[in-house]
Amino acid sequence: MRAGICVPLVFVLIPGLAGAQAAIDYAVIGATAAQETLLRTLIQRMQPEVLPLRAIFVPHWKYVADARIFRVHVPTGYTSYMFTHLPTRTVFIDNDRIQGEQFLGYWIAHELGHLAANSVSEEDAEKAASALRKRLKAANSPALTN
Ligand SMILES: [Zn+2]
Repeated sequence: MRAGICVPLVFVLIPGLAGAQAAIDYAVIGATAAQETLLRTLIQRMQPEVLPLRAIFVPHWKYVADARIFRVHVPTGYTSYMFTHLPTRTVFIDNDRIQGEQFLGYWIAHELGHLAANSVSEEDAEKAASALRKRLKAANSPALTN
């Protein structure tokens, strides 16, 4: 993935917030209330070192277009459900292809892995993701009860 394409994105700056307060402030865009709650709960349980600035749920057609704009390269053997634009710490999520809590947790860990490693390498992302998945597993109960 190459950077250098300027795309207008909503930029959220929250001055004056420190520590844990600032750490939980990222934007979730395009999600239902239930999806947003689930995503935030999963991410909170993973306690990632680096949070995204925003997570954007988009319909499949938009996901495909965005992936093209950001020149996302999907390696052989991988299917793309989400991708992260590192310079803007934005995670794009294909809203038509996510399948429930476990699925979302597994793949968001991968994207958080890219952010933690600050790397576009799938290997680096998976390495970082495994620690996050362990923390999520340790929390050991479904984020939503229904
Ligand atoms: Zn990846």
